[in-house]
Amino acid sequence: MTADLGVSHDQAWVAAAACRGKPTSWWFPARGDVFAAQVALTICRTCPVRCECLAEAVELEDVPYGIRGGLLPRQRHGLQSPTT
Ligand code: SF4
Repeated sequence: MTADLGVSHDQAWVAAAACRGKPTSWWFPARGDVFAAQVALTICRTCPVRCECLAEAVELEDVPYGIRGGLLPRQRHGLQSPTT
């Protein structure tokens, strides 16, 4: 997701994010809103910067919510940052 999460390193990839300009609520759906989550996951599948997004999400393991890099929080749990 392209929301500002306080990462200070290069974020140029964000300009190419497929979620850019789309409703944030799709990536942070209300509990039980399966439709919104599926829309977000479908968009993530075609995102050209999915790897960068997922790497950032794993690095920011203190953000345990929202769809990032095409994965749900529980799917990201246990993944390790490529920089560690
Ligand atoms: S992978 Fe998904 S959440 Fe990440 S930038 Fe792309 S569309 Fe947005």
